[in-house]
Amino acid sequence: MKKSDKPILVTQPALPPLEEFIDSLKEIWESKWLTNNGKFHRELENALADYLGVKYVSLFSNGTLALISALQVMRITGEVITTPYTFVATTHSLHWNGIKPVFVDVDPVYGNIDPAKIEAAITPKTTAIVPVHVYGNPCGVEKIQDIADTYGLKVIYDAAHAFSVNYKGQSVLNFGDLSVLSFHATKVYNTIEGGAIICHDEKTKKRIDYLKNFGFAGETTVIAPGINAKMNEVQAAYGLLQLKHLKANIEKRKQVAGLYDEALENVAGIRILKQHPATDHNYPYYPIFVDEAVYGMSRDELYFKLRENNIFGRRYFYPLVSEFPMYKGLDSARTDNLPIAHQMANQVICLPIYPELEKEDIVTIINSIFINENLKKTKK
Ligand SMILES: *Cc1c(COP(=O)(O)O)cnc(C)c1O
Repeated sequence: MKKSDKPILVTQPALPPLEEFIDSLKEIWESKWLTNNGKFHRELENALADYLGVKYVSLFSNGTLALISALQVMRITGEVITTPYTFVATTHSLHWNGIKPVFVDVDPVYGNIDPAKIEAAITPKTTAIVPVHVYGNPCGVEKIQDIADTYGLKVIYDAAHAFSVNYKGQSVLNFGDLSVLSFHATKVYNTIEGGAIICHDEKTKKRIDYLKNFGFAGETTVIAPGINAKMNEVQAAYGLLQLKHLKANIEKRKQVAGLYDEALENVAGIRILKQHPATDHNYPYYPIFVDEAVYGMSRDELYFKLRENNIFGRRYFYPLVSEFPMYKGLDSARTDNLPIAHQMANQVICLPIYPELEKEDIVTIINSIFINENLKKTKK
């Protein structure tokens, strides 16, 4: 079996051309305006709103602070219904607000919170639902909104994977009360570190902007115990340059996903995750699910085999968030409450995917998954 001579990581950030960035830096050096709602900050908020097809964007220094702040914006308290099949930041942001997470199991295809199981988890203390569009596939947004309307709950989406994902012809970020994006280096669109809250009306946008700037609503007026979560000018300028190259980068991701699809679709014991049919996708991750009994090797055996070949996939999301010590004791964290999330967490490997991933490397990865000739048998 062929080993890659260099490590192939699960992702590699796309960067804007350095010369373009140097021009932006010169402008910042001349103006000496480094942060606090500067020119690039305002420009990027407007450019992102246009690009994404949403009304209002508030930039943040990272996605986690945006999540923590989004919960404060809506004054969420008590209990919040959420998913265990996510990155820890989703749940930690609840914890930092003194909110009790209530875990609900996920659907077996996409791994998003299962709307059919939400109602049973609602108690008099429930104030909101915090779902995650895992791997960029939209949650059951209509069903979730129905439940929220019936019970008077807020909906805040962790949309860290869903940058530029459109659902039924519009941005998936237009659903729910708020959506939160991450622009971390590992995401489809990055500002090195960064994030945003998407909202749908001007008053909410104003409140978000107060909260990310210590709660200042004027020179001498503080309306809330806000935080400092503003994006600076250097990152905002970098972010503007990134937008120019994004469409081409997503197209390249699509090509990588297409090559994987073609090769892996007929490997018995490997389930690939096809994009949601009603969606313009952004190809942020390429998860595969290993059924040990059929594939003949466990997920972890395959994972470590790939590592031996210098291929560094990641087990997103394993372990489940509900398994970490700070959440494990919750009643909703019981394994029998989350059977599907556990099964996905135990079967998943996210294969490397990024715009500059070379075809030769993709072939090496694919050949490492065809671990023996018997596995090439076609599924019925
Ligand atoms: C990346 C990510 C976050 C956190 O965003 P940061 O910008 O890294 O703070 C939150 N939720 C999910 C699902 C993520 O993937």
